[in-house]
Amino acid sequence: MSRTVYVNGEFLPEEDAKISIFDRGFLFADGVYEVSTILDGKLVDNAAHLARLQRSLGELAIPLPCTMEELEAIQHELIKRNNIDAGSVYIQVTRGAEDRNFLWSEGLKPSLVLFTQTRGAKMDSVAEVGLNVVSQPDIRWQRRDIKTVALLPASMAKKKAIADGANDAWLVEDGFITEGTSNNAHIITRDGKLITRALSNKILHGITRKAVLALADEAGLTVEERSFTPDEVKAAAEAFVTSATMFVAPVVSFDGTAIGDGKPGPFTKRLRELYIDFAKKSLS
Ligand code: PMP
Repeated sequence: MSRTVYVNGEFLPEEDAKISIFDRGFLFADGVYEVSTILDGKLVDNAAHLARLQRSLGELAIPLPCTMEELEAIQHELIKRNNIDAGSVYIQVTRGAEDRNFLWSEGLKPSLVLFTQTRGAKMDSVAEVGLNVVSQPDIRWQRRDIKTVALLPASMAKKKAIADGANDAWLVEDGFITEGTSNNAHIITRDGKLITRALSNKILHGITRKAVLALADEAGLTVEERSFTPDEVKAAAEAFVTSATMFVAPVVSFDGTAIGDGKPGPFTKRLRELYIDFAKKSLS
């Protein structure tokens, strides 16, 4: 069945939605995006996602072509029209369209696209089984704090991880893990410390990461925000990823070495429960 999507002021069947071939999102990946998760037909921690969208746009000096209230209303209208109970709403804002030119003109009209996706059962089974992760060099640009649509390096890394028999890759730069291809990376040491890379331009400032760090104390963990190495991952008691779509998902092996006993660990399970409780309370 065809979805209803939103493009530049209109709600349309997906097959009728059109964007110019001169859109700078298409020609230069000149645009940013956000993904908010839908639970029980409502949005998880949505204000934080919209605030990050505003920050990404600000860093690239792209104006938002509507108010934040209007954007939120479009999200909810799409959930309603597509009757989504569990899934996500994707928002993309690009600088707009003009004849191809590296140097863009001031005052372009940004393009705004939103669509919904339904959540598959796969997401929950990942939490049961855990992920096998491999390391790969981080070949992305140096402004990973901006959530741009330039996701080819992440797509290539994920594709190679699957070809190598794993589920995902953790990216390595200067001997330290930066993050996963589409998630933040964390380990738990044998003495009960949650180690996660500090915020900088090297990683996306994950909305789920932030919420989970605030719950660590309740799970009996102390937080250390610092870079960690692939060897520390192999020696860890537990490892996990966070993202809006995966919540908290265990990592059970890294470069072929089992982490802990090779099964999802108790701290990760507890953090996932606590996060899902938080997510339900944050619904709007
Ligand atoms: N890092 C990267 C590179 C990502 O693409 C994502 C997911 N968009 C994340 C981290 C996790 O961020 P969030 O928890 O806000 O989904």
